[in-house]
Amino acid sequence: MTEWHKSNWRNKPRVQMPDYTDQAALNAVEAQLSKYPPLVFAGEARRLKEQLAEAGRGEAFMLQGGDCAEAFDQFSANAIRDTFKVMLQMAMVLTFGAKVPVVKVGRMAGQFAKPRSAPTEVIDGVELPSFRGDIINDLDFTPEARIPNPQKMLQAYTQAAATLNLLRAFSTGGYADVHQVHQWTLGFTESDNAAKYRDMANRIQDALDFIKAAGVTGDQAHTLQTVEFYTSHESLLLEYEEALCRQDSTSGKWLAGSGHMIWIGDRTRQPDGAHVEFARGVLNPVGLKCGPTTTAEDLKVLMNKLNPENEAGKLTLIARFGAGKVGENLPRLIKAVQEEGANVTWVCDPMHGNTIKSATGYKTRPFDSVLREVREFFAVHEAEGTIPGGVHFEMTGLDVTECTGGVREVTEEDLSARYHTACDPRLNASQSLELAFLVAEELTA
Ligand code: PEP
Ligand code: MN
Repeated sequence: MTEWHKSNWRNKPRVQMPDYTDQAALNAVEAQLSKYPPLVFAGEARRLKEQLAEAGRGEAFMLQGGDCAEAFDQFSANAIRDTFKVMLQMAMVLTFGAKVPVVKVGRMAGQFAKPRSAPTEVIDGVELPSFRGDIINDLDFTPEARIPNPQKMLQAYTQAAATLNLLRAFSTGGYADVHQVHQWTLGFTESDNAAKYRDMANRIQDALDFIKAAGVTGDQAHTLQTVEFYTSHESLLLEYEEALCRQDSTSGKWLAGSGHMIWIGDRTRQPDGAHVEFARGVLNPVGLKCGPTTTAEDLKVLMNKLNPENEAGKLTLIARFGAGKVGENLPRLIKAVQEEGANVTWVCDPMHGNTIKSATGYKTRPFDSVLREVREFFAVHEAEGTIPGGVHFEMTGLDVTECTGGVREVTEEDLSARYHTACDPRLNASQSLELAFLVAEELTA
């Protein structure tokens, strides 16, 4: 394989990327971004890789979650806090249930660029270029708003930096201390989840009281006071990714400095395409979405390209087939992995294969389909003797009404009440926690 360079993706066919019209403005933004500090550091990316290797062996479990698309106008400390809080609660439920450490990875601090199923959209007979995420163009339905603007990369960087700064503070500054387990109860209204969570929190509190009484102090006690929280996003806008790429001074390897983990989407995983070319050269853990159209042949080529040294933890395969389609697709890809003797960590994304349009006109996902895909994913791994290494959700800590179902039933009529997503529908806080309990049951079954 030819030697890698951070800009070689430019010689490969690209899809789903904007055509910037103002080349000079684009160059200026790239030059500016390449002088900015990276958002993450090589040692952190390596540590995440080790933890994902553990998840691949069944010694840990990955929880990856956050917005479909982070939005500039929804940026707030409270929104970040609430999503972080729900992820901590979910992690607590999974750790408590499955008795393994949970590797927490946000779809945050960089999840701005979106692939779209069509290049244009038509509303009331007017056709305009599609919205591609706040890092590229604007959601407003006007011709000007839809022109890709390179300046938006600078705002995305600033928002990502501020988000990560807050996440780092929450992770180590006392907020994530397990002794706060009762405080994370989010203003739960009474529901089955709230009661279940409180019951678990009481049992954790008892265990903590015991540990304290037994005199556990020092490093071991410290472990309970902080969490490790990582960031991830789809590596779609390669000008932004290249500009934040940095050489690690200790190993000489290249780091995608935009987030701890990057992934390649279902629409941009062409083995000879620009996105695979970029991702194959960075030291970060890399995710690869696998859908119904992923062939065993392509997967084999991709595994060799993205993880040439067959390092454990380097490559996470994120399965997103849709409920009812896991049984016909996952086994054939597991077989491809086994034939190559490849090290991978299997994660289930039960969101992207289960998007439908509601009768009321909203893009939604039925909670039952999401749950069903998770169960099918576990069942196939059980049957194949392979390891389910984690889950990947589009979710928020906010009380939105974007996915239908759940114990606090969201109906199709309810969707209009608080439908705020900039792209795909997310699980709300209650649905996310409910799912965590159900996944924990699968893990202990
Ligand atoms: C996403 O994760 O938001 C996404 C677009 O997923 P996929 O590439 O699997 O469709
Ligand atoms: Mn999405």
